[in-house]
Amino acid sequence: MVVKGSLVSSWAQAVADFLVPDSCQLCGRPRREEASPRGLPGLLHASVSVPFLGHLDVRNHPLCRACLDRLVPSESLTTGRILEGLPVIAPFRTNATLLAIVHRVKFSRFSSICGPLGAGMAGAWERAGGPRGTLVPVPMDKRSRRARGFNPAELLAVEMARRTGLAIDSGSLVKVRRTRPQSLTPERRRADNVRGAFGATGDRLDGRRVILVDDLVTTGATVTACTAALVSVRAVPLGAICVGEAL
Ligand SMILES: [Zn+2]
Repeated sequence: MVVKGSLVSSWAQAVADFLVPDSCQLCGRPRREEASPRGLPGLLHASVSVPFLGHLDVRNHPLCRACLDRLVPSESLTTGRILEGLPVIAPFRTNATLLAIVHRVKFSRFSSICGPLGAGMAGAWERAGGPRGTLVPVPMDKRSRRARGFNPAELLAVEMARRTGLAIDSGSLVKVRRTRPQSLTPERRRADNVRGAFGATGDRLDGRRVILVDDLVTTGATVTACTAALVSVRAVPLGAICVGEAL
C-alpha cells in the first residue's frame, strides 16, 4: 500500500506540474508552493477573488496569488474623477505591483496579462455607468511604435473591445511629435510636455462618440491633450479608461 500511495502521490504531482505554470510571471515565485501545498487536492481550491478580475483560478493565471492580492481598487470608482468635464475611470490604484505589471506590458508585451487587464477595464467602465462608444487608444509617435512593434494602449483596447463588443479606432488619433516619457517628467511640466503633441486625421471620428484608452493616468495631462485633439475633429469624447490611476 505504501508503494501504491507513493505512485498516486507522484501521479498527482505530475498532474500538478502540468497544470501549474512553473512560476509567477511577475515576481517569479514558484507557483506550486502556493497553489498546491498538499498535491492535487489543493489545486482544486486554488482560486482567488480580485476586484474587476472576478473569481480567478490561480492555476491558470500568469500572476501568483500574492501579486493578485496586491491589486487595489481605484478610489476613482467611488469618488469619480473628472477631467475636462469627462470621467476618467480605472479599475486599479497605481501601486508598485501595478506599475511592475504595466512596465512589463509596455516593454515586453506581457500578452498573458493583457486579457485580464482588459476585462478589469471593461468591468470598471461598466460599473461607472460609462456610455458606449468607440475605443481610441492613446497613440505613440511613429518612430517609437515602429521600434517597439506594438502600442501598449492598443493591446489593452483590443482586450477591452473583446469583452464589450465596442469598436476600436487606432488610426485616427496620432502623435505628431515625440515627447519625453511622462513618467520621467516632473508633474508640473507634464502638461507642457504633451500639449499639442496629438492630432487627429481623416473624418472617421467626425461626430463619433469616443472613449480614450491608456495604461496609467496620473496628472491627466495626456488625457487632456488627446481630448483636445479629438474635439478638433468634432469627435465626442465620453471619457477615458485606464488600467491604473494615481490620485
Ligand atoms: Zn507573483
